[in-house]
Amino acid sequence: MKLTEITAVFLDFIPNELEEGKLYISEKYKTATHLCACGCKCKTITPLKEGEWTMTNNNGSITLSPSIGNFSGENPYHAHYFIRDNKILWH
Ligand SMILES: [Zn+2]
Repeated sequence: MKLTEITAVFLDFIPNELEEGKLYISEKYKTATHLCACGCKCKTITPLKEGEWTMTNNNGSITLSPSIGNFSGENPYHAHYFIRDNKILWH
């Protein structure tokens, strides 16, 4: 099932076991990880570095840019969405 929103979880270390609907953000290691919002549970890693993704935190409302495309796993390019103010906007 496609998700329509995501909850930001801030921590230093990204856990091995991820829950759907959560965006794990490590500001310490400048990376964010979540399970693909289409419900396939592919791990999607978005490094928060120059030339990769930019995270905006507006009082806990997270926006990531550019958009998320899931380019790995068994079905590459199957999912394409934006995370804007904790909402998942399907492309
Ligand atoms: Zn997926």
